[in-house]
Amino acid sequence: MPIHICSTCGTSYPDTVAPPPRCPICEDERQYVPRNGQAWTTPEKLGGGHVNGWRRLEPDLFEIHTHPHFAIGQRALLLRTPEGNILWDCISLLDEATEALIRALGGLRGIAVSHPHYYTCMQDWARAFECPVHLHAADAQWVMRPDPAIRHWDGETLEIAKGVTLLRLGGHFAGGTVLHWAEGAGGRGALLSGDIVQVAPDPNRVSFLWSYPNMMPLSAAMVRRIADTLAPWGYQRVYGGFPGRQVMAGGTQVVERSAARYIELLGAGQPEAGDRPAG
Ligand SMILES: [Zn+2]
Ligand SMILES: [Zn+2]
Repeated sequence: MPIHICSTCGTSYPDTVAPPPRCPICEDERQYVPRNGQAWTTPEKLGGGHVNGWRRLEPDLFEIHTHPHFAIGQRALLLRTPEGNILWDCISLLDEATEALIRALGGLRGIAVSHPHYYTCMQDWARAFECPVHLHAADAQWVMRPDPAIRHWDGETLEIAKGVTLLRLGGHFAGGTVLHWAEGAGGRGALLSGDIVQVAPDPNRVSFLWSYPNMMPLSAAMVRRIADTLAPWGYQRVYGGFPGRQVMAGGTQVVERSAARYIELLGAGQPEAGDRPAG
């Protein structure tokens, strides 16, 4: 029997004769069920019409992204370290080319996922590369397809390879996690942030939301806590959840400035047109 994949969020469900009646991830207010109702696909159908494209973002960091657009449309990032490769975030499609390319690069040491919207088919990637999946325990209720590869971690930080540390920020999800890579950006540090810290179209701005599709904010206190949790970590770049969304310089300042402005807008409301000087 095939596993079933939600066409809206990309989450996989156990193999059953018929698809499940509902997708709890999409019924949650942070996602949505489309106007024409819940739709499902299978790995075979998905692989028949989609392929993964690869892009090198810096010497030891690759982006893997499914074409044409599927579900939420996020990218997975493959991070190379002397101790082995880490897959950051996940996508539903593991095509044969991707599997062969990752094997040629030395396989995977582990998978870490920022939050439940990107859990997708992590179970199949873990099985293919015989590696663990690190998820924050605060989001355990959102695992729709339990698997022995899943390792829930508790607390605020977890180093999964030398210089590769998971930081629990919360916000969008209680267990919302980012990955700090000390050797990224030529040793100046990089943050792989999923949509826990969302890189905006303006490459010098990030944002933070409770729900992205439904455009619902986080509280000022939560945004302050996220910025304060990140403050001790040095990083030049921030790689967000979507292709093209990366802050290439001044990452720590961009995050602090964006958080401060967000809190200011929540507290003071928007200025009337013309009230605020340009720049
Ligand atoms: Zn769904
Ligand atoms: Zn999300």
